[in-house]
Amino acid sequence: MKQTILIVEDEKEIADTLTYALNSEGFDPVWVSNCKDALLKLEDRLIDLAIFDVGLPDGNGFELLKSVRQQGNELPVLFLTARGEEIDRIVGLEIGADDYVTKPFSPREVVTRVKVILKRSEKQASSTSKVADLPSDADSDFEHKTQQRVITYQQQAIDLTRAEYELMATFIAQPERVFSRRQLIENIWSSNHPSDDRAIDTHIKTLRAKLKTLNPHTEFIITHRGFGYSFENQN
Ligand code: CA
Repeated sequence: MKQTILIVEDEKEIADTLTYALNSEGFDPVWVSNCKDALLKLEDRLIDLAIFDVGLPDGNGFELLKSVRQQGNELPVLFLTARGEEIDRIVGLEIGADDYVTKPFSPREVVTRVKVILKRSEKQASSTSKVADLPSDADSDFEHKTQQRVITYQQQAIDLTRAEYELMATFIAQPERVFSRRQLIENIWSSNHPSDDRAIDTHIKTLRAKLKTLNPHTEFIITHRGFGYSFENQN
């Protein structure tokens, strides 16, 4: 599967160069030009790595990274900084950026850095992950491939947004447990995430629709009125 790289850059020319370079190296680049769209994209899709410009029309890359980390998203981030922004680089690395490249840069250099960071974070993921693929329940048609961050149904990968993926991962780990909406929000994002309960209902709704296409006869997600949801997978 192609790795998805989110480019957050307001200068179209730079974004185009990066898109081209990443594409030709087999990545799947996604471009947005401001912080607001970046946050929406990160909620919506599984992104493997993000490239943040520092100066953006509706904020700066550092603030953006802070918001991303507050939501519990630990994806690797590479910063693009303008020449002479020495302090910015230090700040960027201190608040958890993985690397930075100074403008003007060669797109090839950026792609090389991207590859290095991805390799490094894959290594970390495999050495810190306590569970490999979760031992799949013999009766379960669902399987969570934690390393690839993929959930399969009868060996077929399900196309999920980031939130849907986190929901499924939570459900699969503890089938039949009833989760409150708040517990699900905390599992997906973090305890201080501002999302209200309705956000969960929306994600459940889209997830249900996707599960319905896999198996129209089974209701996998059970609503517990006034409390929350559970996941049942009995055949
Ligand atoms: Ca800029």
